[in-house]
Amino acid sequence: MHTYLKIGLTLFALLCGFFFMVLAAVQGSAQPDKVVVHEENLVPEVADSAKKTHIVRVKSGDTTGSILSNLGFPATEAANIIQTSKAVYPLKNIHIGHEFIRIDSDNQVTLIYKINAKEQLVLTAKAGEGWAAKKENRQVSHLVNVVSATIQDSLFLDASKAGLADNLILKLVDMFAWDIDFARDLRKGDSFKVMYEESFDDEGKQEGYTILAATFTNRGRVFTGIRYKDKQGNIEYYNEDGRNLRKTYLKSPVKYSRISSRFRTSRKHPILGYTRAHRGVDYAAKTGTPIHAIGDGKIVYKGRKGGYGRFIEIRHNNGIHSTAYAHMSRYAKGMRKGKYVKQGQVIGYVGMSGLATGPHLHFEFRSRGRAVNPLKVKHKAAKPVPKDELSAFRLKAKEMMRLMSLFDHDDSWG
Ligand SMILES: [Zn+2]
Repeated sequence: MHTYLKIGLTLFALLCGFFFMVLAAVQGSAQPDKVVVHEENLVPEVADSAKKTHIVRVKSGDTTGSILSNLGFPATEAANIIQTSKAVYPLKNIHIGHEFIRIDSDNQVTLIYKINAKEQLVLTAKAGEGWAAKKENRQVSHLVNVVSATIQDSLFLDASKAGLADNLILKLVDMFAWDIDFARDLRKGDSFKVMYEESFDDEGKQEGYTILAATFTNRGRVFTGIRYKDKQGNIEYYNEDGRNLRKTYLKSPVKYSRISSRFRTSRKHPILGYTRAHRGVDYAAKTGTPIHAIGDGKIVYKGRKGGYGRFIEIRHNNGIHSTAYAHMSRYAKGMRKGKYVKQGQVIGYVGMSGLATGPHLHFEFRSRGRAVNPLKVKHKAAKPVPKDELSAFRLKAKEMMRLMSLFDHDDSWG
């Protein structure tokens, strides 16, 4: 409900006339009241009631000792601080750009070191007592934005103009990559709308983007993705019916009688006689058995290729995987380089062209250009929303879509 509240408040801000909404919701532990920089005031004075705050950012050449000295701690006190920190986060280990904050109030001194975006070391010394150290979570603030655009030039250009960062555009592309071929299918007039959360640490440094929901209209077809975390903690994007936006590959490209040779890094070649690697799997099958593309993709090679004989290579839509099919007796009709094929589509027929002792399909699976064992590739299952969570998911999906729809009037606010 937290997110909805934020969005609700943000919507309110937007209705008040802000085009981009700005709203910080606070998580984690409390922070010192207010942080004010006093560059000139190296040794904070302890006032009776007001807090005094002093910040030092670690620079090249700084040591923990020199920083603590700058913050006004005498050498013995600095040694105590460093000793106390050891059990929680050793202050010997500091990084350029990270902040130290000293806060003096009437009865205690607090020293904070920002360990990373999520954690800080907090040391406190009450009047007349020694130092105590603990680790705390830092504040994270979120900003929820909804951005929509219609494609005039290119997705990247138009999305950038609409204010989306490059890595957010990539996330949007990843999300719909199984349904939309972004290299080929985009048309002028296609459009998208994305609702995303931007996170910041307590210094206002941007920590990243999370897409909460998005729609993409491609050649008149509308694709929807909603982020959902199930009870097991798995986070996936689903369409409104709870179908996973990711897809998996076919288990094998042919109906085979047996696997005649497995993937291995070296083996004795049956024809060439010497030992060489076998970077694929051989499926023995009768000549003429149809060979199916295991996933949607584009043919990047079609033709004879040395020992492979008649050969087709497909680059899959996710841009990471490619598959190769060798020793075909013939190609299916219409196969050519640059052609897009669908999962399950017949691309050719089993044979023994090239170097082969009998009819079989030699099949390779490449991930980022490297051959991997097709039988060992573990594709993350693209399961739908668990059945017992479907009604909860539908409610959430409906709410997300409703919130996004409230932003349909960008023209009047532009
Ligand atoms: Zn083979």
